[in-house]
Amino acid sequence: MADRGEWLRELGLAPTWRLRDTAADRGTSGGRATVPASSTAADTSSAPAPVALLTPADRRAHIATLDWSAFAADVDGCTACGLCRTRNRAVPGVGDRRAEWLFVGEAPGAEEDAKGEPFVGQAGRLLDNMLAALGMRRGANVYIANVLKCRPPNNRAPEPLEAEACRPYLERQIALLQPKLIIALGKSAAMQLLNVDASIASLRGRVHRYQGVPLIVTYHPAYLLRNLPDKAKAWEDLLFARRTVASAA
Ligand code: URA
Repeated sequence: MADRGEWLRELGLAPTWRLRDTAADRGTSGGRATVPASSTAADTSSAPAPVALLTPADRRAHIATLDWSAFAADVDGCTACGLCRTRNRAVPGVGDRRAEWLFVGEAPGAEEDAKGEPFVGQAGRLLDNMLAALGMRRGANVYIANVLKCRPPNNRAPEPLEAEACRPYLERQIALLQPKLIIALGKSAAMQLLNVDASIASLRGRVHRYQGVPLIVTYHPAYLLRNLPDKAKAWEDLLFARRTVASAA
């Protein structure tokens, strides 16, 4: 019978995290430490303490304890899906950690993968311009994240298993941030956050909720670059978002 590691590899979920909870780890990190399971057995021979493979539930529980300072390092070291093998840099997120506005996109592209920051390519420039039109800018009351923290090869859409593996990170970001409003940029973000498979057109124009937080759906900036007439609709969505934040204050 295949062992658990083989099943995880088959599902595209390995190599995964192992939990290390040695006295030495506690001394240096003040808590449980995770190390990429891609380390070889030889790497760990100097660590005599038992090394357990994290179950998905344990991994979720671990991520749910991360504070901001540990968050990015954890994402950087993540090997929970196959994208860790093709990424150059993980892209945890960027912005004001006390922001009221959270923008969620799909996944890093080539420029984001090279820089480690979300929305720095052409779509990002459009997003920055949209923010500027609202009198806002990234880093000031705005936080930007993606459904996936690593670039899918050739910018393909996220696979369900990848989105599932990355979901605890987005959940943790939202829990840490406690935004007043979430803007889902495009279908991947809307699907992940609302657990629906519906068109953007059918989701726009109303306030949804993510665990009680108001959520507004609009078009992805990359889509807008290809469909210029819909920019006016995205602008309407942002004005609607601004009214929603103001009315919640
Ligand atoms: N598209 C996204 O969805 N996110 C990025 O970070 C860049 C492009």
